[in-house]
Amino acid sequence: MKIKQIMYRSYCDLEPQEKRFYNLNSEKYELNTCSKCQMIDTTYELTWDTYADLKGWTCLCDDCFYEVGGEYHEM
Ligand SMILES: [Zn+2]
Repeated sequence: MKIKQIMYRSYCDLEPQEKRFYNLNSEKYELNTCSKCQMIDTTYELTWDTYADLKGWTCLCDDCFYEVGGEYHEM
């Protein structure tokens, strides 16, 4: 199985063996899931609550960031 097979898909939509693959490889490939829609993306592409006000979510993909009205903290 390859990482690209699970990228940008929702964790909840994965087959059991794909979930296992994600859990085994997420750390190695620095993958994470959006807290809201569970889309799998790299840690760097997701927006984290340390950088922005995510209205209570921990990390969000771009779509969910705009959906909840997230705001980047002023530096
Ligand atoms: Zn999302």
